[in-house]
Amino acid sequence: MTTSDGLAWRDEDVRGFGMAIGGPARVLRPTDAEQIAAAFAAVRAQGGSIALRGAGCSYGDAATSKGGHVVDLSAMNRILDFDPATGTATVEPGVTVRDLWRRSIAYGFWPRVVSGTMAVTMGGAAAMNIHGKNNYALGSFGECVESFELLTPRGDLVHCTRESDPELFHAAISGFGMLGCFTRLTVRTKRVHSGRLRVWGIVARDLAHNLQLLEDLRGKADYLVSWLDLHGTGVALGRGLMHRADQLQPGEDPPGVCWFDPAMQDVPTTLLGVVPKGWLWPGMWTAVHLRQVALVNWLKFQAGHREERQSPYLQSHGAFHFLLDYVPRWQWMTRPGGLIQFQPFVPFQHGERVLRTLIERCQAAGQVPYLGVLKRHRPDPFLMTHAVDGYSLAMDFAVGAGRRRREALWRLCQELADVVLDAGGRFYYAKDAVLLQSSFARVHGDEAVARFRAQKAKWDPDRLLQTDLSRRLGV
Ligand SMILES: Cc1cc2nc3c(=O)[nH]c(=O)nc-3n(C[C@H](O)[C@H](O)[C@H](O)COP(=O)(O)OP(=O)(O)OC[C@H]3O[C@@H](n4cnc5c(N)ncnc54)[C@H](O)[C@@H]3O)c2cc1C
Repeated sequence: MTTSDGLAWRDEDVRGFGMAIGGPARVLRPTDAEQIAAAFAAVRAQGGSIALRGAGCSYGDAATSKGGHVVDLSAMNRILDFDPATGTATVEPGVTVRDLWRRSIAYGFWPRVVSGTMAVTMGGAAAMNIHGKNNYALGSFGECVESFELLTPRGDLVHCTRESDPELFHAAISGFGMLGCFTRLTVRTKRVHSGRLRVWGIVARDLAHNLQLLEDLRGKADYLVSWLDLHGTGVALGRGLMHRADQLQPGEDPPGVCWFDPAMQDVPTTLLGVVPKGWLWPGMWTAVHLRQVALVNWLKFQAGHREERQSPYLQSHGAFHFLLDYVPRWQWMTRPGGLIQFQPFVPFQHGERVLRTLIERCQAAGQVPYLGVLKRHRPDPFLMTHAVDGYSLAMDFAVGAGRRRREALWRLCQELADVVLDAGGRFYYAKDAVLLQSSFARVHGDEAVARFRAQKAKWDPDRLLQTDLSRRLGV
């Protein structure tokens, strides 16, 4: 549909990945920076607002704008340059993690930082400053960005590096799409000597054991992530299965070069070569709705002992990193209410106490997350950072049907957020749905908030760029 401004806006229902949040919006999918600039000018002239959107993988309201305009960058998806000698890529913002590794692996490079799904775009990765299972070692996505071009709401195209404008560089990366639109990014990847990783499954009997494993292994392992069975109680509270993966050194895995073929990295589309994985979510839906998640988790934990005995084993980078992509549309198992993810970041010294409290409070409230994922982090230099020297625990809650259930879940998460913020913890807006306006300064501190607001006033004085998240936080 072409409107009076000459742009092809379409009316769509725009939701977060968790489906629980979002609503109708006018969506434009530009194919070049000129169209984005035209959209900025047209909507500014109407006094409206625009939310930028990549692949829509943020769980909550970071890329939604009920009743507003949404500029979806997914059609700007060209890799403009890839240097096979250094592994440096210059890309448009809609290039996904998958597009990037498919190009780089053929030359023996892998992205330095990847999320748990490969659908994420480079623009979304930079705006949220995403982290991977190696955050404690290699840092966040922003740390591998060399430069970017940012189209500001006033229509200027700014080329920015750490050196040319350190304040903008460190605020736009992590700035959840509030300062301008990334139209081009140059990112570094890393050399790998095999298309496979050496992987260990390690059973962790409780929370303390899980945290101890992270401390013992983080100086040695390239990647660490633990799945937690949040239904475990008493001595089993916080039990889970840690996965450690190490890169292979030159000459360690000669057949591994065959896995430089991108087709060898893609996650399989069928289970046991027969059942299309797209059919799996109804089975998972049944487990969630018949309240069988505790049983499923117990079975998964028990299966971990067998994996531990069979470890180490070799696994492709794709299979190790993108476990969640194994089951397409898995989030549909939480229909009709959808899901929210709550991911607190807790400083090391308070880690065990705070995480134990969060799990116990969920259990006492009868709202146990069906999935828990524990990671180790390190601080990074970005203004709106979510990272701490400590741990994060991503907790996935099925929202369920009915307003009262939904409100009770929001209340519970807000109480949990208080526990985290009292301990000096932070939150990650890609995963947030519940934080209150008063939490914004508590997450970042007054000085960082003042600096971010100054950048917003400088680059977007008309407050053109807004999302449901930014309005909720009063940004
Ligand atoms: C299954 C799953 C697993 C995940 N695992 C991880 C993980 O391991 N680690 C992690 O850190 N995150 C993880 N995430 C979250 C995900 O990495 C972030 O939400 C990421 O920002 C999503 O990118 P996107 O392209 O979908 O952007 P969107 O979700 O569409 O947008 C994210 C933000 O970026 C802004 N934005 C988008 N494009 C641009 C642009 N061109 N210029 C400026 N701003 C822009 C938007 O306004 C919004 O604020 C996961 C998400 C899912 C669904």
